[in-house]
Amino acid sequence: MRTSRLVTRCVLGVVAVLGTPFAARGAEPPPPPIIDMHMHVSGPLPRTDSGGVMPRVCLPHGWCDGAPTQAKDDAQVRALTLEAMQRNNIVLGFLSGPVDGVREWVDAAPGRFLAGPFIANPHAVDLDQLRAAYRGGQLQGMGELATQLAGIGPDDPALEPLFALAEEFDLPTLIHLEGIGPREPTFSIAAGRPELLDPVLKRHPGLRIYLENAGFPRLAETISLMYMHPQVYADLSTVTWVAPRAMFYEYLKRLMDAGLGQRLMFGSDQMWWPETIDLGIEAIRSAPFLTEAHKRDIFYNNAARFLRLSPQEIARHHKR
Ligand SMILES: [Zn+2]
Repeated sequence: MRTSRLVTRCVLGVVAVLGTPFAARGAEPPPPPIIDMHMHVSGPLPRTDSGGVMPRVCLPHGWCDGAPTQAKDDAQVRALTLEAMQRNNIVLGFLSGPVDGVREWVDAAPGRFLAGPFIANPHAVDLDQLRAAYRGGQLQGMGELATQLAGIGPDDPALEPLFALAEEFDLPTLIHLEGIGPREPTFSIAAGRPELLDPVLKRHPGLRIYLENAGFPRLAETISLMYMHPQVYADLSTVTWVAPRAMFYEYLKRLMDAGLGQRLMFGSDQMWWPETIDLGIEAIRSAPFLTEAHKRDIFYNNAARFLRLSPQEIARHHKR
């Protein structure tokens, strides 16, 4: 749920913080591991007319009142994001951005991220460069495919080579396909209908794809898609902090009642506001209708299955 030119800088001390064992710092044992399936490298932060950093987005009104972001520039976004990962025991993050940008974050915190290219304009993609990045191991995921921000739906032929590439390399693929997004003139509500993915999945049955925000607020189409295509998963990301809490809970409860609790995965979609990582985790932890087992599925188990983590990786993530 973002678009920008993305720039990152080295953050001194981040590697040292991440590399310090919990026991050595005398801290409490970490909470159970979390996988964050929706993260972004930062870039120039959105500014108000007076030059301050825009507060995070809240619906239905737009910008949240009285909630200024903690980060003042892109370097602080990365530092605070990595601190939040450490604090919440987020052992792995699906990180989206320009190829150069994600590489800098991966270098700052090796082993913490699966990297994917952020693509809003499918016509501007250099497929040879992407293919080389997958072959060389610099990228491990596809997306966020955010062409809806440019008014381009997933059934547009321009996305065909990207889906084919994702299928060829068996990539976990994140797509922005829902009813909400940035309030920009090119954003198309109509291009975000989950059912537009149905013909794509018939052409690419091997596609391992997940929907941002479980298609919010398009519940019926999302349920149809997930019932008819069992390989489709969904994240609970921006919706955990951008929508009114009661609305998010009603949506999540309906997904759980539909029997889809084992295909929902936590994501923060932290963009320029690293504090949303804690907000998103708290929203799921506080859901009164979720059992502890449900929460473990959403925070870790479903993503581990979707990403096909090895038993060794899973054991390593659970090591205290
Ligand atoms: Zn996103």
